Amino acid sequence: MPEITRESVSANIAGIRRTIAEAASASEFGIEPLLVAVSKTVGIEEVAFAIEAGIHDFGENRADELVRKHAAYPEENWHFIGRIQTNKLKDVVGRACLIHSVASIHALDEIQKRASRLGIVQPILLEVNVSGEESKDGFAPAALPEAIAHCGQLESVEVRGLMTMAPLGDASVARATFHGLRRLRDELRAGCTSENVKLDELSMGMSQDFPQAIAEGATIIRLGRSVFS
Ligand SMILES: *Cc1c(COP(=O)(O)O)cnc(C)c1O
Repeated sequence: MPEITRESVSANIAGIRRTIAEAASASEFGIEPLLVAVSKTVGIEEVAFAIEAGIHDFGENRADELVRKHAAYPEENWHFIGRIQTNKLKDVVGRACLIHSVASIHALDEIQKRASRLGIVQPILLEVNVSGEESKDGFAPAALPEAIAHCGQLESVEVRGLMTMAPLGDASVARATFHGLRRLRDELRAGCTSENVKLDELSMGMSQDFPQAIAEGATIIRLGRSVFS
């Protein structure tokens, strides 16, 4: 594998910013999403390269790496994007500026408990399995209304929006998945009255499919390989 350098990361980010601008101006929504650089495969040094290139939002999928990198760069925004393990939540709640991957009522209740104990409100997204692939985590679309009603009772949790992952490999299937998440969000937002449920954010799009996500109104994209290579 070629080495990841300050120069390669900086050039990658410049190219991504151009693609974001083009995709946003071609989209009916015109939204330039927040770029979260997914640093799960790289070390502390590579994160510094991205900070130098103007990135201040990073994504990690393991609690121990979140703790390590957050300690190295406490000023940056650390997003948690990995499968939630209840016994590791104590390291995630309060440290993550946003937990993208909340996929069960049990996880919601555990986050509520932790956040309440810390005296904070934890921002989260609900992960949705739009495509219905068995291998994917996330609430089934049909389970969302109940999950959102439940969130309305959790004082220490703030639901900012929805997150999804598209099936790999086919741009038109990816786009249909992102379209589906946006429509779900629009429907749910219209009927939502809880003060702690906002549903403004759509976290969707990875290295291989972020232009399709921007075309469908993504507000947050999560890029790993295309930043760190
Ligand atoms: C790894 C990961 C990403 C980034 O994937 P790339 O293909 O490297 O851009 C985004 N979201 C989640 C949930 C991930 O686990």
